[in-house]
Amino acid sequence: VNPALADLNGLFAGRLLVDEADKAPFLVDWLKLKGDAIAVAMPETTEGVAAILRWAARTGTAIAPQGGNTGLAGGSVPQLARPTVLLSLKRLNRIRSVDAVNSTLVAEAGCLLADVQAAAAEAARLFPLSLAAEGSCTIGGNLACNAGGTAVLRYGTARELCLGLEVVTADGEIWNGLNALRKNNTGYSLRDLFIGSEGTLGVITAAVLKLFPKPRARATAMVGLDRVEQAALLLAALQSRSGGAITTFELMSARALALVLAHLRQTQSPVESACRWYLLIEVSDQQGEDAAAATLEEGLAAALESGQIKDAVIASSLSQAASFWRLRESMNEAQAATGKVVKHDVSLPISALDPFIAGVDAALSAQFPDARTIIYGHLGDGNLHLSALPPERDPHRLQPRDGALINRIVHDLVHEYGGAISAEHGIGTLRRDELPRYKSEIELKLMRRIKTALDPDWTLNPGVLLAPPDWPTDRSF
Ligand SMILES: Cc1cc2nc3c(=O)[nH]c(=O)nc-3n(C[C@H](O)[C@H](O)[C@H](O)COP(=O)(O)OP(=O)(O)OC[C@H]3O[C@@H](n4cnc5c(N)ncnc54)[C@H](O)[C@@H]3O)c2cc1C
Repeated sequence: VNPALADLNGLFAGRLLVDEADKAPFLVDWLKLKGDAIAVAMPETTEGVAAILRWAARTGTAIAPQGGNTGLAGGSVPQLARPTVLLSLKRLNRIRSVDAVNSTLVAEAGCLLADVQAAAAEAARLFPLSLAAEGSCTIGGNLACNAGGTAVLRYGTARELCLGLEVVTADGEIWNGLNALRKNNTGYSLRDLFIGSEGTLGVITAAVLKLFPKPRARATAMVGLDRVEQAALLLAALQSRSGGAITTFELMSARALALVLAHLRQTQSPVESACRWYLLIEVSDQQGEDAAAATLEEGLAAALESGQIKDAVIASSLSQAASFWRLRESMNEAQAATGKVVKHDVSLPISALDPFIAGVDAALSAQFPDARTIIYGHLGDGNLHLSALPPERDPHRLQPRDGALINRIVHDLVHEYGGAISAEHGIGTLRRDELPRYKSEIELKLMRRIKTALDPDWTLNPGVLLAPPDWPTDRSF
């Protein structure tokens, strides 16, 4: 037992979990990665977070912030070489204020994304960040990972939806940067340093978020086609026709759709024709239902006529639209049910998607002829999720060394096409050792300098995103 814990327990009686059974749910992530912590602390106030960080600085204990534990980069459960306290932000979960005139709200870091969306809706506004884990992930985690999701095309990533932050620094000071300004040129943007830093530079405790007018209507379609190149052209055409009103433009390979249909025990695909690729498209409109549907109908009719797409179905009811969305949103679950999966979250210029996919498909099937590759993702953002699933009859077939080789093939090609090895999930621990291969030396040096300036003792999430200087060469703990 760490004697310093008694001291912390004094500060947080009842909100410090030390029993193995109490800690257990916090120590395994969505990908089944396991971690360890000497305690889980659950403060309810920003001052409580600051007190823990001051205690950690004093005792040399590492701190691992955690929100909803839905991250997909291995950064949300501590797998650290040092004694670590897991800092759960879940109880710091109040909506502090809503300003409908300024179209902003202030939410504490532990608010569920779905609760932030609901608070915006209550004020007749939209908070557009949306992803399948929205019922479990927190706004603090979304900002720490700069989450993307299904509406980035229209509204941007979490970074673009945040005006100000409150952050507790590694030595336990509170920075109140909760300004609600759309313009603020008064020096370095500290907000932007903390967003996307994956809990390695400071603990986000609250944020000012941007709200938008609620769309009056949405129209949703599923489309079948044979080439990704055509999908990219369709996106450009629909954007011009709709004046940029496309909110969602999601891609699924035929194999990805088949996997999710089987997982949901659905026998029929919404799109009748057999195609190599499918799209989920949504338009949101301020003019009303007819205008939204007309934009899609006219655009898709033109694409059918020119042979750009093979088939299309526009949802005729809210429940049909929800059934299209369910296919997309169940993709992670469907993969998890297949066994050991090697996942990727890459981004590329939209114009490079077609040749990249052809190249990666050829390279992976040459090396792993019986592994199954599925591709899906946010085509409108140039963001592909590419997963190598194990052979159907042998769920344990892909071994860690296969994973390393698959990563090498995929990431090298991404780099060759000018892409990034993480688009929205982050680097975490899973991609940390890949980073030096693809980032320039100067970029890594600057990142390390920033880390050392803000967290000189590497208290916060050491080993997430960057390896600490004293990192052991054997990382298999
Ligand atoms: C089914 C499913 C679908 C998903 N779909 C998408 C998607 O479409 N787009 C997308 O971008 N992501 C997606 N994700 C992953 C996504 O990154 C997370 O869902 C979410 O952004 C993480 O929030 P969280 O609260 O769960 O953070 P956690 O998983 O708890 O933490 C993630 C990282 O952030 C750090 N962190 C958490 N809270 C704080 C804080 N307050 N201050 C500082 N650091 C903090 C942690 O230390 C960790 O490094 C999906 C995940 C699942 C399971």
